[in-house]
Amino acid sequence: MSFKELYGQEGLRHTLTGKLIAGRVSHAVLLCGPPGSGKKSWGLALARALLCSRREGAAPCGECASCRQFQTGGPPALFHLRPQGRRLGIDQLRRIRGKFYLEGDNRVCLIEEAEKMTAEACASLLKILEEPPRGLYFILLTARPQQLPATILSRCQRFTLQPLSGAAIAGLLMEKEGLAPERAQLLSRLSKGLPGLALKLAGSEIFEEQREKAAGVISRMAKKNQPARELLSQAEELAAREDLPFLLELLYLTCRDGLLFLLCRNEALLVNPMEAGRWTGTVSPAGLEEAMLLIQRTAQQVNTTNVNRRLAIEAMLLQLQRRFL
Ligand SMILES: [Zn+2]
Repeated sequence: MSFKELYGQEGLRHTLTGKLIAGRVSHAVLLCGPPGSGKKSWGLALARALLCSRREGAAPCGECASCRQFQTGGPPALFHLRPQGRRLGIDQLRRIRGKFYLEGDNRVCLIEEAEKMTAEACASLLKILEEPPRGLYFILLTARPQQLPATILSRCQRFTLQPLSGAAIAGLLMEKEGLAPERAQLLSRLSKGLPGLALKLAGSEIFEEQREKAAGVISRMAKKNQPARELLSQAEELAAREDLPFLLELLYLTCRDGLLFLLCRNEALLVNPMEAGRWTGTVSPAGLEEAMLLIQRTAQQVNTTNVNRRLAIEAMLLQLQRRFL
């Protein structure tokens, strides 16, 4: 993968391209961003460019031994470290440290979840960074830069990956995954600008089931006189699901679609135009707004507190039902 094949991150792309061309890439680059933001893809693309033996400008040639080895597990000059269990220990660094000092071509050490390095590993890395051997580059990836020692942070050139626009994510899903535009659009809204999450959702086998589940909740709400016992058993079933936070998000988006439809009467806004019938005459825009707030509040409780999930969902469903006509 080269920068050309990656989406968004124009600032990062511009800076790294400039530095590669000028031969001034810092010997320690820190890429920050939440899981799924693309740190690893960018880190590997930078490593590939640094290790290419026939690079012209910033783009790797794609043909030299190193470039080809990237297709099959990575070239020997790429040292790829990730935590073993919860920590990334000094022994993992020690095993490869000798190779850092070999003379000759570039070498790259890519460290995933760098914040999980133990104090000893950090100290050892710091020592290397204080007098870095020629041609050795560290690329550190982390979602939590604040957990890295200041002494390491101060020696790194730091970049923070930005969330992609909805359009960029939808484009990625259509181009790379061959998704239909409607589906790509829905997933782009769910993935909050994180390409990794979007790709994960696109490959998820249970996504359709999850979506139907969320739609089913709304359909039942729209049905009048739902027996209390049905509602309670639905609450129990939802509360027991591991993917409850995601389902609540889908529920929220389903309501938002409905609100947009009711306010604008534009079926093109609905992910599935068949859903128009579900909204007309079953709920008012004000009712849907309240429903969205309710779902949001419940999601927050579920995500951030030890609330009894079943009781929280029960209360949410009972109150949701009252918002429908
Ligand atoms: Zn090459």
